[in-house]
Amino acid sequence: MAFVGRAVQRVALAAWPSLSPLCRTSSRSYSSEPTNEKNVPYEMTLKQESGAASGPTKPLPRSADVVVIGGGSLGCQTIYHLAKMGMTNVVLLERDRLTAGTTWHTAGLLWQLRPSDVEVELLAHTRNVISKDLEEETGLHTGWIQNGGLFIASNKQRLDEYKRLMSLGKVYGIESYVLSPAETKDLYPLMNVDDLYGTLYVPKDGTMDPAGTCTTLTRAASAKGATVIENCPVTGIQVRTDDLGVRKVKAVETAHGTIETQCVVNCAGVWATKLGDMAGVKVPLIAMHHAYVVTERIEGIQNMPNVRDHDASVYLRLQGDALSVGGYEQNPIFWEEVNDKFAFSLFDLDWDVFMQHIEGAINRVPVLEQTGIKSTVCGPESFTADHKPLMGEAPEVRGFFLGCGFNSAGTQKKNYVELLASKSIYLLLCLL
Ligand SMILES: Cc1cc2nc3c(=O)[nH]c(=O)nc-3n(C[C@H](O)[C@H](O)[C@H](O)COP(=O)(O)OP(=O)(O)OC[C@H]3O[C@@H](n4cnc5c(N)ncnc54)[C@H](O)[C@@H]3O)c2cc1C
Repeated sequence: MAFVGRAVQRVALAAWPSLSPLCRTSSRSYSSEPTNEKNVPYEMTLKQESGAASGPTKPLPRSADVVVIGGGSLGCQTIYHLAKMGMTNVVLLERDRLTAGTTWHTAGLLWQLRPSDVEVELLAHTRNVISKDLEEETGLHTGWIQNGGLFIASNKQRLDEYKRLMSLGKVYGIESYVLSPAETKDLYPLMNVDDLYGTLYVPKDGTMDPAGTCTTLTRAASAKGATVIENCPVTGIQVRTDDLGVRKVKAVETAHGTIETQCVVNCAGVWATKLGDMAGVKVPLIAMHHAYVVTERIEGIQNMPNVRDHDASVYLRLQGDALSVGGYEQNPIFWEEVNDKFAFSLFDLDWDVFMQHIEGAINRVPVLEQTGIKSTVCGPESFTADHKPLMGEAPEVRGFFLGCGFNSAGTQKKNYVELLASKSIYLLLCLL
């Protein structure tokens, strides 16, 4: 069994060639090829329900008002919100099964307080949808866990920022508290608070379950008349040029037939650039490896809030009686050749890249040094140059909308797309 503390040693040993060659060899067990034998910390993924994938799960309609491409977090949220807005002739096409791309292995953290009032409002909306609205509409629990969120301030500037976030939260009715190091220790006894200035505690933050959320979203959308079709890869986008020289979406081609439509929403995650190419639209995102590790059981961790330490670039997500440890990679690995066959798949973890998260995590929760690592989860995620999502109609082709490039926040900021893009789709359709 790998230990969190030993992982740091292994990478350090690899960095000094005069030390044991055995250690150096064992530290580099990664590959850029996908693997698919690893487990994510969910009891169920939609893959397990799928069985043999042979042809589309429903017949394709001849035409639709909107075709949403991709059945991940963004696609499912988009079709749900379109249906809720009264658009029923809408279709979602997923190449494999729902969540098969990035969504199935997301950490699913949802923090409501962000340094932008638009984001705060949208995150609060997302939280309401997955913690309340969907359950009321479908009678199904999405798997939402409200264990709270704790932001770490290890310098005065960060604490000042959190105080401002608390004020912003008050405007939007989001309960939050700035805690002293001693109060933080009371709340989270396993935490090292010696180097803390304070923390920001948001009791109604939590964690979403990707399979549960996407199933419930598509059930709710289907109940309102939307159509969700799995095992149906999109192979082409037909575009026409009108008399004024304006390029417009005409139809979506699949391996199983063509759907006439004037409106497409590209929610294909890291594959969105390929869908863009089909329509002659540039989608400026890049696919990178993004990862977390899941620890063995930690006594006393149960019911603790999720933790985000921005300065150490690390998060600790409660995983039952264990933790998932992850963060933003400073020296990420790009996924240069995005592979169409990659469904419910993962990469091997590169410990050199991941090491920085482990050091920060051990500093914050020292018991981690003696805790085993149960599994690693390293998957593809799309990032953009300005760390903002790509949303709305593409300038090159009328009726071709983007809902992608979510910079590792695609499960929590999804209503960005639904609220903004779906409203503009709706308005556009009214104008056509
Ligand atoms: C390790 C890790 C941890 C993360 N943790 C968090 C977190 O804590 N909080 C958070 O908010 N976000 C997190 N994220 C990010 C989040 O998971 C993603 O932003 C989100 O899942 C992306 O959803 P999506 O719908 O855009 O893409 P995807 O889930 O990839 O969905 C795209 C879908 O399009 C389908 N598709 C592709 N091509 C075609 C085609 N030609 N025809 C039809 N379908 C097609 C794919 O099969 C796929 O199912 C994390 C990501 C990773 C990798």
